[in-house]
Amino acid sequence: MAFHVRRKDREITDLDAMRKVLKNTKYVTVALCMDNEPYLVSLSHGYDEAKHCLYFHCANEGKKLVYANANNKVWGQAVMDYGVTDECDYAYTSVHFSGRLFMIEDLNEKQHGIEVMVRQLSPNPEAKLAKIKPEKLATTTMGRIDIAYMTGKQHLNPKVK
Ligand SMILES: Cc1cc2nc3c(=O)[nH]c(=O)nc-3n(C[C@H](O)[C@H](O)[C@H](O)COP(=O)(O)OP(=O)(O)OC[C@H]3O[C@@H](n4cnc5c(N)ncnc54)[C@H](O)[C@@H]3O)c2cc1C
Repeated sequence: MAFHVRRKDREITDLDAMRKVLKNTKYVTVALCMDNEPYLVSLSHGYDEAKHCLYFHCANEGKKLVYANANNKVWGQAVMDYGVTDECDYAYTSVHFSGRLFMIEDLNEKQHGIEVMVRQLSPNPEAKLAKIKPEKLATTTMGRIDIAYMTGKQHLNPKVK
């Protein structure tokens, strides 16, 4: 069954505006499912606009990896949270996405992914990137979410810059 944003007055249809949300947030919350049991985790991410994918790193074991290895279909959300307004309404811009999660083994892709992440997450990216050693990266667990579909919604927020 196909669903659409019900409140057309709040729907974001501009793909660039949705991409900006993924580029200007620090983490996404990703829903997983295995054997009809749901699970979710938040992950600090970097969004690669050219490849339309998200990069993240994590420990090399744990529940999310068990779920993702069993079923790599994910649904996720990124939120720009503007808080409660004077009228006690809640202002936000958010993006939902679906896609597939892949673990990354290739060192060149890990290097690219970490650069995307650090440039998005760090106020001082070049200094951080200079400290990243290939041998450390080789043992770092990294993943990628290829985004297949996304929707956007906003409520009482300032325009996304
Ligand atoms: C803003 C934010 C950013 C984060 N960024 C990253 C990231 O970049 N990489 C990363 O690996 N993790 C990140 N985390 C932590 C992540 O959400 C998970 O807690 C963590 O990855 C462990 O997941 P797991 O499935 O391996 O848990 P496990 O250690 O296997 O634990 C499984 C059980 O622990 C409980 N649990 C797990 N995580 C949490 C939690 N956060 N809060 C409460 N209960 C929990 C659940 O009940 C679950 O059933 C972030 C969390 C936040 C809030």
